[in-house]
Amino acid sequence: MPNNTSNDVVVISEKIGGAIPDATFELLGKGKEIAASLGGELHCVVVGTADGSDALGACDHLHIVEGSLLFPYNPQGWEDALRGVLAEINPRLVLTSTGTVGLDLAGSLASYLGGVAASYVVDLAVEGSSVICTSQLYGGKLMAEADLGDTVACLSVIPGSFPVEAGRGSGSAAVAKHDHDSSNVSMAHVSLNEPERSGIDITAAELLVSVGRGIGGQSNIEMVQELADALGVPLSASRPIIDQGWLPKYHQVGKSGKKVKPKVYLALGISGAPEHLEGMRSAELIIACNTDAGAPIFEVAHYGTTVDLFDLVPEMIDLVGS
Ligand SMILES: Cc1cc2nc3c(=O)[nH]c(=O)nc-3n(C[C@H](O)[C@H](O)[C@H](O)COP(=O)(O)OP(=O)(O)OC[C@H]3O[C@@H](n4cnc5c(N)ncnc54)[C@H](O)[C@@H]3O)c2cc1C
Repeated sequence: MPNNTSNDVVVISEKIGGAIPDATFELLGKGKEIAASLGGELHCVVVGTADGSDALGACDHLHIVEGSLLFPYNPQGWEDALRGVLAEINPRLVLTSTGTVGLDLAGSLASYLGGVAASYVVDLAVEGSSVICTSQLYGGKLMAEADLGDTVACLSVIPGSFPVEAGRGSGSAAVAKHDHDSSNVSMAHVSLNEPERSGIDITAAELLVSVGRGIGGQSNIEMVQELADALGVPLSASRPIIDQGWLPKYHQVGKSGKKVKPKVYLALGISGAPEHLEGMRSAELIIACNTDAGAPIFEVAHYGTTVDLFDLVPEMIDLVGS
């Protein structure tokens, strides 16, 4: 465990193939703000390959760690390599995203640094000399605010929590190359299994039928899918539908899903939480069906009804089919 903690912030880029992910730029934007408030500097660590790292100019120091067993992603190799870099920096705060790398490594790196870990973080701030972090629990139904004081912390942040643009800096970071000795790494990368891709692109649709938790259960998805099919348009959804596994992720609209701008957006059983509105409020015409007349979706809807979606949707299917 390193000593003499600095006030520096380290962003670990979750680049395990392809381009630098947006999540890295989000963390860099927020990390820069936090480092400035703490009076420290911002570091970014890219493991395995230097490809694309010239886009990471928002940080003060860029660390590129190369080694024979680090790319493609190898959790044991990454942890070992990151320990070496963190021991040199002695950071106050380490930021990862709540993705493959963050979920694998945030806890063990926090333990190595003698600090604490928090996951599913959605907000960060500095008050006085304390770092305050807000995490989401139960898929966003509860928020937990933690005062980390001046404790060293390793946080995994939910992608979509901070603006991407703030982290796209054109500055020139000081680059340090680190060679990792992989001789102690016993774990081997076998394969990267990409999620199933679909031909469905909700961002290109002119009309979207979108479903929310008001649908009540997975077996009822079939009914709204039937309406979407009858109209010849894709079905989109709010996040709880994805989190519960009722539809694949590529259907999700919102802050941590896709931004859509169709000519017509039909929202069925969607309350209109800010994170959902962020993804669809630019639709030209919003039509909402929600049994609660006080639901926030009606503040952005051009037309709305408080009838039960289980009455409305079958009627619409009949109308479209006739
Ligand atoms: C960092 C972060 C990122 C997030 N990203 C996203 C995101 O990308 N997309 C997203 O959608 N959410 C996102 N969320 C979650 C968001 O805060 C809300 O929890 C979510 O949008 C609520 O989904 P919902 O409207 O389907 O469910 P609910 O809020 O539960 O609303 C269901 C609605 O259905 C209505 N209803 C119930 N029964 C019927 C019926 N029979 N007929 C008609 N209406 C009915 C109810 O009145 C209610 O208003 C995010 C949260 C966080 C913290």
